[in-house]
Amino acid sequence: MTVLIVEDDDRLMDALRAFLHKAGYGTVSAADAAQALEALGSDTEVVLLDLGLPDMDGIELCRLIRQRSGVPIIIATARSHVQERIRGLRAGADDFVVKPYNVLELVARIEAVTRRSRAMVVEPSAEQVIDVSGVRIDLSGRLVLVDGAAVELTRTEFDIVAVLARYPGVVVPRERIIREVWQTDWHAFSRSLEVHIGSIRRKVGRGDLIETVRGVGYRLAGG
Ligand code: CA
Repeated sequence: MTVLIVEDDDRLMDALRAFLHKAGYGTVSAADAAQALEALGSDTEVVLLDLGLPDMDGIELCRLIRQRSGVPIIIATARSHVQERIRGLRAGADDFVVKPYNVLELVARIEAVTRRSRAMVVEPSAEQVIDVSGVRIDLSGRLVLVDGAAVELTRTEFDIVAVLARYPGVVVPRERIIREVWQTDWHAFSRSLEVHIGSIRRKVGRGDLIETVRGVGYRLAGG
C-alpha cells in the first residue's frame, strides 16, 4: 500500500512518513503540487493532500488528480476551514482529516477509503464500444442498442450507464456515480440514482445488465 503524501511542512512530512512506515505503508513524498502530479502513479493507492500548498490551491490540485485517476484522496485542512473541506469533497476528495490530526485516525480513514474504493483502483477502460449480454453501449455516440435497436435513454440515464461502462465487471460505488453524473457529493441523490437505475433496467429490458451490490453500488455485467 503506497500513500502519496502531499505536504509542504517538512516536520509534519517526516513525522507522517515515519508513522506510516511503522504502520506498514510505503510512502512517496511531495512538497508541492508540481511534485505531487509528477509522483502520482499507477502504484499510488491513497493520496493524503494538504490543501495549503505553496504553488497551487490544494482544491485545484485535488481536481487535477481526480481528472487523472480514481485514487482515493484524503484532504487535510484546518479545523476552521469548513468551506474548504466542502469544496475539497466537491472537487473529488473521498474524505478529510482535520489538522492537527491523530495519526491513528488517519490510518483508520486510509483503511476506510481504500476498502471503499478497492474495486476502483482499476483504471477506466478506454473502450468506446462495450458489448455485454446482447447490449451494445457506444460511449462516443451516446447510444445504447439492444439486439441492434436503439434504446431511448434520458441524458442522465445515459450518463449513469456510461460511468458503469467505463468499469465493466467492477463494482462502482454509489458515491462515485453520483459525483460523476451530478458533480456533487450530496447523498440525497442516492434515491434519485436508484430511480434512474430502475428506469434504465426497464427500458433496456435486461435484468442482468446492471447488478445492485447492496450497500456499495452497481456493477455492469462483465463483457
Ligand atoms: Ca501546508
